[in-house]
Amino acid sequence: MEDWTEPINVGVCPNNNTHFDVIVVGGGPGGSAAASYNAMKGRKVLLLEKEFWPRDKICGDAVGGKSLRHVKELGVKVMIEKTPHFRVDSIVMSSSNGKNVKIDLPKEAFEKLEAGYSLPRIQFDYMMFKRATEIVLENGGSVMQGFSVKNIKVDDEGGAKKITGVVGKNSEGEEFSFSSPVTIGAGGYNCPVAKTITEVVHEEPMRDIEHYCGAYREYWTNVKGCEGDSGSIEIHFIDEVNPGYFWIFPVNDGTVNVGIGMVISEQRKQHGIKKSLKKMQKNVIENHPIFKERFVGAKLVEGTEKGWQLPFGSPRKSAPSYQPRRSAMAGAMCVGDAASLVDPFSGEGIGNALVSAKMTSEIFDESIHSSGFSEESAEIYMKELWDKLGPELTNSYSLQKVVKKKWLMNWFMKKASKKEAIREMMTEMIAGKEASGGVYSKWFVVKALILP
Ligand SMILES: Cc1cc2nc3c(=O)[nH]c(=O)nc-3n(C[C@H](O)[C@H](O)[C@H](O)COP(=O)(O)OP(=O)(O)OC[C@H]3O[C@@H](n4cnc5c(N)ncnc54)[C@H](O)[C@@H]3O)c2cc1C
Repeated sequence: MEDWTEPINVGVCPNNNTHFDVIVVGGGPGGSAAASYNAMKGRKVLLLEKEFWPRDKICGDAVGGKSLRHVKELGVKVMIEKTPHFRVDSIVMSSSNGKNVKIDLPKEAFEKLEAGYSLPRIQFDYMMFKRATEIVLENGGSVMQGFSVKNIKVDDEGGAKKITGVVGKNSEGEEFSFSSPVTIGAGGYNCPVAKTITEVVHEEPMRDIEHYCGAYREYWTNVKGCEGDSGSIEIHFIDEVNPGYFWIFPVNDGTVNVGIGMVISEQRKQHGIKKSLKKMQKNVIENHPIFKERFVGAKLVEGTEKGWQLPFGSPRKSAPSYQPRRSAMAGAMCVGDAASLVDPFSGEGIGNALVSAKMTSEIFDESIHSSGFSEESAEIYMKELWDKLGPELTNSYSLQKVVKKKWLMNWFMKKASKKEAIREMMTEMIAGKEASGGVYSKWFVVKALILP
């Protein structure tokens, strides 16, 4: 059994002013993967994380097929399989009128353990970070936990700005400065590298509430219909949160992740600032005609009631530069939530964090960029990132709009519940959603509308 409760030994602390090939800010899935992929190329990497492991991350805890491919490549999948986890074989969706549709994930992928898992992020992230620590140390790099990055160093030679490293403090308050030709921003939705690239250097907005989602999570035990260690995860498009959804995701050992999420601008418009997601979830659990029965006798795991934000990757209407927003510049690239890459329909962000993390290792080249990752390469990164993820993010944004139209969603779910062809298309859409494009059909919405 793999243990995810013990502290992680990250080895010796690097000296102040050490120079690295790559600095990674943030040790979530995006940062751990970026550090691993870059170190696997023999680079001297510095991985910095402000928390100490094990640490919680508020999430729905679903790890889809796209994520699993990277998780396997990094050697983390075997670790996950030695810990309790829930194997997802299908996704149940329902519309506001209570119509249910069950979308099976491909049987073959499920049998090969490649369809999808759900497990608490405290457990998943621990294994990603532990493996990253091993790979980074093996390749001559360093890892620090309890180290909070406070400042991003920006050089301004002749008006051409470039990021040259970071300054931060360890848990004892000691200050360290590090330098590198490239700094990877993987600090999540509030990442200091992303902030420097967007707001500080380019004076462009980082946060856009039309494209940011608020979400709230609790763990429960004894929820009816969530028994066993494999089965469905559930997404319910209810009236209270639209666009958004109420989810019920079993994770392990009878524990269920229950949460609610909604686009922030819509939440403010429909409910005002005062009505919290926590209150909305309480109302659904206690009073919703369909769900209240399932929570009779269920128990809230105290202390797990927490909210967080999801920066969606939906295309911005009048983006000042790159879509979904600027995510790189000379000396820096951002990945995952720091690059605003969460799927605006499903709320999935781990997969795109891992895809973007790998891309940084392919675009950065220490022999070419030894004196600094260039502005041209930053532009290539942003273009390739959007070429790879833009079509599916744009498509998911269209689906988010379908959900917003209640009558359309009710009609669609009714149709999907009757038509095998639509369910098959939805399976293909979910399971085949690999960033390389391929099977992911951008005509999904249109096809769904015209299928007899
Ligand atoms: C309620 C909720 C439900 C979700 N459900 C799902 C789901 O079921 N499936 C899915 O795929 N995605 C889901 N997501 C999205 C997913 O959680 C994120 O997309 C994913 O965590 C992004 O990974 P990341 O590594 O980019 O960022 P994060 O996971 O946010 O990691 C960032 C890391 O950086 C560290 N950090 C931050 N600032 C600093 C600093 N200054 N110095 C050093 N370290 C720093 C943080 O401590 C953290 O460890 C959900 C999100 C929410 C909020």
